[in-house]
Order: sequence, then structure tokens, then C-alpha cells
Amino acid sequence: MAKRGNLFVISGPAGAGKSEIVKKLLAKHPEIKLSVSCTTRSPRPGEVNGVSYHFVDDAKFDALIAEDAFYEWAHVHQNRYGTLKSAVEEGLAAGNDMILEIDVQGCLNVMAQNPDATSIFVSPPSRANLEKRLVGRGTESEESLRVRLGNVAKEMAEAYKYDYIIIHRDWAEVPNALEIASDEVFAIITAKRLEKEKNVDFLDAFTADLTR
Ligand code: 5GP
Repeated sequence: MAKRGNLFVISGPAGAGKSEIVKKLLAKHPEIKLSVSCTTRSPRPGEVNGVSYHFVDDAKFDALIAEDAFYEWAHVHQNRYGTLKSAVEEGLAAGNDMILEIDVQGCLNVMAQNPDATSIFVSPPSRANLEKRLVGRGTESEESLRVRLGNVAKEMAEAYKYDYIIIHRDWAEVPNALEIASDEVFAIITAKRLEKEKNVDFLDAFTADLTR
């Protein structure tokens, strides 16, 4: 039987670059799996159903809630997003380390249910950098920028509850900032794999072999 995988939850404010970091990590380490969430939002150009998300309508999302299919779900920016219990459970049982890239409320919810989950908060290096990233998207009015900065302040207040903080540096100053951040996530994953508790079976078998 495969050794059970570990669960990692990554979140952080919009504009911190968490999806780019996860994308880079998965490209380098394909044995790590991302759990595909359900969402009621419409697909963006290039997004593939079943790969980026399972895109579902409100009725289907309601049905999934009623079936208790979600590990956690949350309202994020006018839409609903949920992590499927089946996706997480099947991945972990198959021995894969699983990543959930979800919002802060979802992460707190997972941590409350699963003390063994490792939580990682990705932070921009500064307010100035965050503003630059949000404005750089070209979609922000003065008002929506103000609202977003207010939301970031709330999310940063929750960062104290996470196990690890990754600062995603400004790539104008640190050109390989993305690579560094994704290597840092991999270092956390590696440390979790090497925890004594995760390797007791090996120690027991080796000890038994030596003393037979
Ligand atoms: P986007 O619509 O840009 O793909 O994602 C918007 C936000 O929803 C991001 O912060 C993303 O991490 C979060 N999100 C994606 N999937 C889930 C999920 O299953 N649960 C929760 N709580 N948040 C999610």
C-alpha cells in the first residue's frame, strides 16, 4: 500500500502570485498534485473544465453542498468555490502530496478540520509592490484598488495563523523571485515528508530487521 500523501494549503492575497508559484512547482515536481476545485464562476479564456476547475452552475453547487461533497467551500468575489472531499481523499490515499490553492477562509477551515495539514501563506513583499501588481493587471479602478487593499489588510491579519510565510519578492529586484518562492514551497514539502512521524514504519522495519 502506498504511503499516504501530505496535505498542503496555499493561500494569500490576490496579486501575491500564488498560482504562478504553484504552477512552477508542479512543472518541476509533477508527483505533487493540485486538487481541482469546483466553482460557479465562468471559465476564462484558456481555462479547461476539469483541469483549471470543475465549472458548475448554482444548482449543481447546491446539490454538492447537500451531498456533503465539499471538504470546505466559500464565497469569493461574488462566486462560490469548493474543494471536493473525493479529490483530496483519493489523492492522499494514492500516496500523492496534495496542494489546495484556496482563499484564506477556506484555508482556516481546512486547518480547523485537519491539524496535520501544512499551511503556507504567500505574501507580497510590501504594499508598494502589491499596488504595482494590482495596477499592472490593468483592471483596477481607484475605488476597486482601495477595496482590494482593505481586503488584503484583513487577509494579512490571518497570516499569523499559518505554519509558513513565503515572501514573493519583487522580480524587478530579484529576477528569479518566482523560482525562489517555488523552491521554498518545495523545501516545506520535503521537510514534511522527512518528519519522524512520517517515517516510523521505516524505522520499525529496519529495527526489526537488525534485531532478528
Ligand atoms: P480565481 O477565480 O481567480 O481562479 O480564484 C479566486 C480565489 O478563489 C483565489 O483566491 C483562489 O485561491 C480561491 N479558490 C479557488 N478554489 C477554491 C476552493 O476550492 N475553495 C476556496 N475557499 N477558495 C478557492
